[in-house]
Amino acid sequence: MTYFLVTAGSARMAGMTISPLTATTIGRGTVTVLVAVVGLMIGSFLNVVIYRVPRHLSVAQPRSFCPQCDTPLRSIDNVPLVSWLVLGGRCRQCRAPISVRYPLVELSTALVFAAVGWGLGPHWAVAGYCVLAATFVALVAVEADGLAPPLSAAAVGTGLATAVLVGAGAADRRWSHVIGVMVGAVFAAAVVAVSRRRRWRERTEPARWTDSTAALLPAGAALGWLGPAGVGEGLAAAAIVLLVARALEHRPSTTRRGKSVLALALAIGVTVAVVTAVARGTGAGL
Ligand SMILES: [Zn+2]
Repeated sequence: MTYFLVTAGSARMAGMTISPLTATTIGRGTVTVLVAVVGLMIGSFLNVVIYRVPRHLSVAQPRSFCPQCDTPLRSIDNVPLVSWLVLGGRCRQCRAPISVRYPLVELSTALVFAAVGWGLGPHWAVAGYCVLAATFVALVAVEADGLAPPLSAAAVGTGLATAVLVGAGAADRRWSHVIGVMVGAVFAAAVVAVSRRRRWRERTEPARWTDSTAALLPAGAALGWLGPAGVGEGLAAAAIVLLVARALEHRPSTTRRGKSVLALALAIGVTVAVVTAVARGTGAGL
């Protein structure tokens, strides 16, 4: 819960800021280190989201506990990455192994945040893209578990990120970015809504607040900010990943038949589009 407050707090700060950070006040290296540390804490919160939200459990209560002996984790045993390493991947009380996935999610979130910080440079758009990246980490991890990604997490993450990006774009009058991110998010939401309505009519909708297309929301906002070129590159890359996944699925040796990879494909598509934009060198915040 603490971590969620950290996210909400920094986003609020971002939304209220009138002028964007400039290279003279804070450097690219500082931004990278700063967001990497924040990424570790957000990653810890994402572990809670990834496990609890698809199972309809509260992310606020109860606090994290050992699934073997039910002992609540003390704060000292809940430090991202460090605690897992110090405890040797085992519960302090019952010595039951703790999945390596927890530190992996924390580490990957920190690395993705660092990459966003380094790629976009000192600009409030970094905060928006970090929220989108965190949303993708959660959706991809839930999808990898074979569960449908929660629409609630996608909507909250995308809504927050869109607000931050609109503020970031308005602050330095990049109106094409502001319009792009809003159109992208709204268009993606419309696609998800239409697709859900169609499946509801066909009675193929399994559960109400989960949806295999949930990752379209953060993808819409992320690609919209980049503009038409980014949308084209991102969707093309995602389509290639989906085609490869489908080809692999039809091989008789595979046991992963029918598993959705849409969130992963869109995450890769957005990564390709952002990296391409960074390579074009359009400056801080792209
Ligand atoms: Zn235990």
